[in-house]
Amino acid sequence: MVMVRAINGLPEAELDAFLFGAERVALATVQRPLRALQDGRCFYCGDALSGGASQVDHFLPWSRYPDDSLDNLLLAHDRCNREKLHFLADLDFARRWRDRSHEQAAQLDEIAASTRWPRDRARTFGVVASVYQGVPDGVRLWAGGDRLRRVDVADLPEVHGFGRGLLAAGKGAQAAESTPPAPPQYPERASE
Ligand SMILES: [Zn+2]
Repeated sequence: MVMVRAINGLPEAELDAFLFGAERVALATVQRPLRALQDGRCFYCGDALSGGASQVDHFLPWSRYPDDSLDNLLLAHDRCNREKLHFLADLDFARRWRDRSHEQAAQLDEIAASTRWPRDRARTFGVVASVYQGVPDGVRLWAGGDRLRRVDVADLPEVHGFGRGLLAAGKGAQAAESTPPAPPQYPERASE
């Protein structure tokens, strides 16, 4: 959605640069306001972000579903961003992420307006909800640092329940969403 909108405004000569080089530049637009929103701290570990050693992180990893809209973006240490990699965040992080969208909704709207960055909480929540609802037995969730938690059958009701709750919260956030996203497929089954 973001890509299409942006691409439509680009001359063809710039298209390659946009597709292959500019994503990081674009994300830098929201880096400063996100830093202020998070009081200069890493979303995941809570430690201060120093100098330039921070990254705009996609809460739902880009490799799982490409969502650049504001609710899916947060600021993290380079280190935390690297350790999270393509893993789905564990529920403690996921709840904190969900609550940020509610509790800081006004600030996120301000950032979206001042940077002209897209924000569509209902859509983002819908996508993330679908992914958590589809988590299979045996997947590993990132629990911070180098810790991964392997989800077994006993854990699935809690993880899937989080997804269902998130879906309801997203619908509540924006009841009349024009195009509900197609549920993404869970891309891979984690192996040991
Ligand atoms: Zn960190």
